Amino acid sequence: PSPLGPTPKLVIDLERLAALPKEKAGALARYAATIQSQRGDYNGKVLSIRQEDLRSLAVIYDKSPSELTEELISWGVLDAEARRAVETF
Ligand code: C2E
Ligand code: C2E
Ligand code: C2E
Repeated sequence: PSPLGPTPKLVIDLERLAALPKEKAGALARYAATIQSQRGDYNGKVLSIRQEDLRSLAVIYDKSPSELTEELISWGVLDAEARRAVETF
C-alpha cells in the first residue's frame, strides 16, 4: 500500500463547476448532471466520479487524463489530491 494512504477519490466541486463559463466547463457540467440523474443524487455540493469517467472526459476535452486533471485543479473543480488518483492510470 502507498505510504500516503489509499488512492484518493475524484471529487467534483459542483458549486465551483456551476460558476464557470459554459465555454470551458459546459461538457463537464453536462457529464456531471447525467451522473447525478443516473444516481438520483441531486443534493450534494460535491460528486464523486469514477476514474473511468475521467478517462472519457479526457477524450471529450482532447487532452491526456493528467492534463485534464491539471486544468480542473486550476479551475478549482478538483482538489490537488486528485493528482494521485490519476497517477494510478
Ligand atoms: P451500474 O454501473 O450497473 O451500477 C449499479 C449500482 O452499483 C449503482 O447504482 C451503485 O449502487 C453500485 N455501484 C456500481 N459501481 C460503483 C462504484 O464504483 N461505487 C459505488 N459506490 N457504487 C457503485 P446507482 O448509483 O443507482 O447507479 C445506477 C446506474 O447509473 C449505474 O449502473 C450506472 O449505469 C450509472 N452511473 C451512476 N453513477 C455513475 C458514474 O459515476 N459513472 C458512470 N459511468 N455511470 C454511472
Ligand atoms: P467520502 O466518500 O469521503 O465522502 C465524504 C462526504 O462527501 C460525504 O459524506 C458526502 O457529504 C460528500 N460526498 C462525496 N461524494 C459525494 C457524492 O457523489 N454525492 C453526494 N451527494 N455527496 C458526496 P457522507 O454522505 O456522510 O458519507 C460519509 C462516508 O460514508 C463517505 O466518505 C463514504 O466513505 C461513505 N459513503 C456514503 N455513501 C456511500 C455510498 O453510496 N457508497 C459508498 N461506497 N460509500 C458511501
Ligand atoms: P467508492 O464507492 O469508495 O469505490 C471505490 C472504488 O471501488 C471504485 O472506484 C471502484 O473501482 C470500486 N468499486 C466500488 N463499488 C463497485 C461496484 O459496485 N462495482 C465495481 N465494478 N467496482 C466498484 P471508481 O470506479 O473510480 O469510483 C470512485 C467513486 O465514485 C466511488 O467510490 C463512488 O463514490 C463514486 N461512484 C462511482 N460509481 C458510482 C455509482 O454507480 N453510483 C454511486 N452512487 N457512486 C459511484
